[in-house]
Amino acid sequence: MLKKILLFSLIALIGKASAQYWQQQVDYRIDVKLDDKTHRLYGEIAFDYLNNSPSTLDSLYIHVWPNAYKNGKSALAEQLEGEGKKLSSIDTAKLGGISALDFKVNGSAVSWSFHPDHEDIVLIKLAQPLAPGKRLTLTTPFIVKIPSGSISRLGHIGQSYQITQWYPKPAVFDHKGWHPIPYLNQGEFYSEYGSFDVSITVPKNYVVGATGELQNSTEASFLDSLAQDTKTRISEIIALPSGNLRDSFPPSASEWKTLRYIQDKVHDFAWFADKRYKVLKGSVKLPESGRTVTTWALFTPANALNWQNAIEYINDGTYYYSKWNGDYPYSAVTAVDGTISAGGGMEYPMITVIGNASSARELEVVIVHEVGHNWFYGILGSNERQHGWMDEGMNTANEMRYVATKYPDNQDLSDMVLGGKLHLNDLDHHDMGDIFYRLLAVLDADQPIETHSAEFSSANYGAIMYQKTGLIFQYLRSYLGDELYDQCMHRYYDLYQFKHPYPEDMQRVVEGVSGRKLDWLFGDLIQTTNIIDYKIKKAQRVEPLNTFTVKVKNTGSVAGPIGVSSLDKEGAILETQWTNPADKRSTLIFNDNPAITEFAIDPNRNIPEINRSNNRILVNKALFKKHEPLTLEFMFGDHEANKTNVFWTPMMAFNHSDRTMLGVAVHNFGLPFKPVQYFIAPMFSFGRKTVGGVAEISKTCFPSYGARSIKIGISVKSFGIDDDPNGQRQSFYFAATPYLKINLAPDTRHKGYANDLTFKWLFRRDIFSNDMSMENGLKVNHTIQSNRKNFSYQGQLQFEGVLGFHDEIFEFENYARVSTTQEFEVKYLDRKKTRNIKFRFYGAYNLAYNPGSSYYNAMGRYSISMFGSAGYQDVFAENYFLNRATVSGAQYTDDMGGFRTGSNNLRMSNYWASTVNATVQLPIQPNMFVAFADFGVYDNGVGVAALYNAGLGINLGDIVGVYFPLVQSVNMGDLYQNYKTSIRLTLRFNPFNLPYKLSTLLK
Ligand SMILES: [Zn+2]
Repeated sequence: MLKKILLFSLIALIGKASAQYWQQQVDYRIDVKLDDKTHRLYGEIAFDYLNNSPSTLDSLYIHVWPNAYKNGKSALAEQLEGEGKKLSSIDTAKLGGISALDFKVNGSAVSWSFHPDHEDIVLIKLAQPLAPGKRLTLTTPFIVKIPSGSISRLGHIGQSYQITQWYPKPAVFDHKGWHPIPYLNQGEFYSEYGSFDVSITVPKNYVVGATGELQNSTEASFLDSLAQDTKTRISEIIALPSGNLRDSFPPSASEWKTLRYIQDKVHDFAWFADKRYKVLKGSVKLPESGRTVTTWALFTPANALNWQNAIEYINDGTYYYSKWNGDYPYSAVTAVDGTISAGGGMEYPMITVIGNASSARELEVVIVHEVGHNWFYGILGSNERQHGWMDEGMNTANEMRYVATKYPDNQDLSDMVLGGKLHLNDLDHHDMGDIFYRLLAVLDADQPIETHSAEFSSANYGAIMYQKTGLIFQYLRSYLGDELYDQCMHRYYDLYQFKHPYPEDMQRVVEGVSGRKLDWLFGDLIQTTNIIDYKIKKAQRVEPLNTFTVKVKNTGSVAGPIGVSSLDKEGAILETQWTNPADKRSTLIFNDNPAITEFAIDPNRNIPEINRSNNRILVNKALFKKHEPLTLEFMFGDHEANKTNVFWTPMMAFNHSDRTMLGVAVHNFGLPFKPVQYFIAPMFSFGRKTVGGVAEISKTCFPSYGARSIKIGISVKSFGIDDDPNGQRQSFYFAATPYLKINLAPDTRHKGYANDLTFKWLFRRDIFSNDMSMENGLKVNHTIQSNRKNFSYQGQLQFEGVLGFHDEIFEFENYARVSTTQEFEVKYLDRKKTRNIKFRFYGAYNLAYNPGSSYYNAMGRYSISMFGSAGYQDVFAENYFLNRATVSGAQYTDDMGGFRTGSNNLRMSNYWASTVNATVQLPIQPNMFVAFADFGVYDNGVGVAALYNAGLGINLGDIVGVYFPLVQSVNMGDLYQNYKTSIRLTLRFNPFNLPYKLSTLLK
């Protein structure tokens, strides 16, 4: 009853929202001519702009997106630079732009200007404000310099043309205001609906594919004859050897042709022209109306092998998307083989461009995805820049369903990776998204689905915006069932076709039609990075009632529903029950059935759950237990849903005391990562003739409140220390460090932001030939990091304290210290090369300092080193040292004072120290050479002393640094007396931090 009232009121709301809805209308007339010698377009555009809004407009924003390709200053240039492509270093002949603009409104010149930050946006000041219900006509000539197709999606490769985002076009004005957006190749689209009447003039022997209905009967016959020819000669075309005959452009005809295309109810117009195109033509009958749609495939002979069945892919995509969402409304669908290097494919209304595919299957998936954008982008015109998931994500949901429907037994992912080797078993098309998303989620490197396109890291853009959206709508479909889900999507399609729906519109429709509150989906799963995890607790037969009760617990942070199924011994589903979304604990009642052998949460893996290893319970007559057979696999693989996969990897290590170490690591670093991770690597030390090594186990939790994630773990290490002069290397340490790492970054953080609070405890035992020591300690560290395009910051505040005891000499020792490190990195060179300057400020104060033994005192174990910690000062056993027995070796960690010098001349403080370190990347190639200078003051026990040094160095990525000081302060001694010892080595290598490193990389 309640449900019915809810349903009724929601349907009432849908009606209300539609009644208030309005949108602007833009009707275009464009004449354009292609000059294929200079790669330019000469055009005239006129559009009627009808103001349907309740506001009077005194200005218009117009996108002139070819200017995104003009220089290194556009938003596109900035974005490409983040991807390692620099527009400013590209030959200007290859850049693009739009010129000859002369805007007139209703025939009169108007005042207009470029947007102060974006030259690809124009602001037109209307002399006469445009009242609600009124129309104006805007005209301008334009010349487009077509950029190289290697930059983004408007471009040419030779005489192959991809003419997209090419004409002046008003930004969207909707009930939320104006949406002027600079062109980016991530989240490109938001455009007004209207009609197009476009005339394209090209040399006569070009084959053209375009948005809209072709009006010229001679051109239609030309295409038909090409299609007939391609069809009969396809095997001959496939067999053509590469070379001029197949690949080069034939000379352009001296005669011209003008092709006219007309289309209503679209928001964009694109066209593609290539003299080499082969053509295939087909048709598909739509599932609801029975109407027939013509389908076209235009491709180069070089790609004929993969494209020979392209019509089937276009037809099937058109058919299934129509069936699941609503019939395709236009008369034709075209896919063209493009030379774009900006990605796999790109959508435009009625026409899509497809990049090179390595196989027919890959081509099919890309074609279906791009054709599918006709629904999610073309017909449902949401704002992709802001709510990309409504476009790419919804489309991915349909793409996943398409592959699963047409190829239910596919192993696309397994086949992709070394043909199924490395134990990547039975991984299908949907697993690509599933594994990628879960990997990022466990690393805590994911961003919410609802993130502005420009704020997504590129890994998250693909894994979250596309794939996670696809996965959670598959989740919704498995919860609602196909029939109800399809009703929701059809209603959404009917209400919002040729409109601009927002997320709240979609939520209102889907909730209204399904009669369910879906905050767990539109809130938790879309707005946050909350994770899904359920656990099956118990299954119990209730004899008198002939039923089973199954207890399930929601251990994740999403208040969603979960499906539990009873299975027979073949794994076939007998019955499925769903929990209520809000219930933390649920008891589900199943019919008893002698065939039941087990109960499983989501056996078909429709739900992107973070941990699938607690999803099954075996029914064994009287005994109920969880089961997961253990499989041991070499190196690496995937975690299968109903197995426990363990991997083993040979290990080799080296240090001064242990000499060579050989051993084996047993671990569970498989795909995707699991919340519980372990890595156990015992190794035999040939130096000490005994066993050492490392082990680490951790668990990542995702609390509903307070922190994004908490990682608890313990790291255990044991290595040799002392290089005994008598050749008896028996000294070693054993350190156990439990830790707790709390990620405090908000969900909505920008890419490159981190905020971590870490607690680390130390339990350490060092065994020497004549002494033994015990140390217990605590380190608390708070780090904030923000990486922006031109500026990076990292700030740390740290407390550390250690209590030690030497058994043999019966001495206690201790220290407690507060310290801070502030690092700033800015770009100082940003033209052809990019180079950085880095400043680091360090300050430390010892609250307590009692080194106890004179030995420790002499070694400076608890002192603040002006140079950084040497092996002997790595009390918390955090780093890897070739030799941790000395304090005056060449290797230092770049912590503490960070002076870039080796030290035959130790400088340490037992009280306080402060340093500044400057590093400049030199403007020469390659970018590994740096100049550095360090300055510091410290209390050396006698008074305050100042030190400086400066020199040149080499940084090999983030891992190795070698530094050659050239000058240093007199009180550091004679630099050149024994120069070799002044050279400093920094190794920032910790293989066991790899998963963490990976996560920072992905951030
Ligand atoms: Zn897409």
